[in-house]
Amino acid sequence: MPDPACWVIRRTHFPDHITFHTPGLKGYKTSEYDGHNAQEFVSISITGTACALGCEHCKMSVLKGMMALPQFEGSLFDLCAALARRGARGVLISGGSDRQGRVPLLPHIPDMIRVRRELGLALRVHVGLPDEETCEALAKVGIDGAMIDVIGHQDTIREVYHLDSTPEAYETALEHLARHNVPTVPHIILGLHFGRMLGEWRALEMIARHPPKILVLVILMPLNGTPMAVTRPPSLDEIGNFFATARKTLPATPVMLGCARPLGQIKFDIDRLAIDAGLNGIAYPAEGIVDYARQKRLTPNFINACCGVTW
Ligand code: SF4
Repeated sequence: MPDPACWVIRRTHFPDHITFHTPGLKGYKTSEYDGHNAQEFVSISITGTACALGCEHCKMSVLKGMMALPQFEGSLFDLCAALARRGARGVLISGGSDRQGRVPLLPHIPDMIRVRRELGLALRVHVGLPDEETCEALAKVGIDGAMIDVIGHQDTIREVYHLDSTPEAYETALEHLARHNVPTVPHIILGLHFGRMLGEWRALEMIARHPPKILVLVILMPLNGTPMAVTRPPSLDEIGNFFATARKTLPATPVMLGCARPLGQIKFDIDRLAIDAGLNGIAYPAEGIVDYARQKRLTPNFINACCGVTW
């Protein structure tokens, strides 16, 4: 059952608008939206498909869908300049992690500064588990947001990410980003622990202590070719309850349903739960969800970019 308190919160803090986001990670077309342009917001992996962690839910498959910088003859700035000439307005800079969980961003910081100053592109950056030096360097770039998957249970960090770290290290990273005034867009992956909800509540508590620009919730997406290809995601009840908890924990912060979630009928059901819980936006909405939002007297708009990016 939807929690009516969530809608009271939404109406108190936000206008009756909902934004649907469609970045260039994949093609998108429904009967409700045919204006997707994958060139407008492009994902770049600075490591190509290389990653030292090989997480159980990903095994580099997410990186395979991105533009590989190592295969491009030129710098990150050169690649972004070429994309800008083709109509890009923003990019997601991502990549695999090193053994400490960091995306190796530091060598690319001077390029990123030039991308902002000379091309004016919006920059979203996947930071992995960044050290303080990286947070400090990102502060000089002027990014739109640092995207960090926050994990709230040690077993998940060890068994899913193969990373020798702790939830406290994620909180420290959030602290470092906040201290250097880098806007954060933390993500919580519901069901990351082999389909079970485990550290999600603690992750939310940690995030709430360092108020983010936007909170993004995603659901474990069983990906072909990974050990979790047949893992069942959490139940709709668990998902809906967590959406409501997030809405109530961060009443004035935009909370979005991000792009990763299982496909099929369950996707529509999850998207409906997001609207019922008063979330502010959805990436790649299921067919029929725009109409559902209108029935709830929300005015929809689409942006061809990552969650919460505005032009
Ligand atoms: S969840 Fe949203 S912000 Fe994160 S990668 Fe997907 S579209 Fe971008």
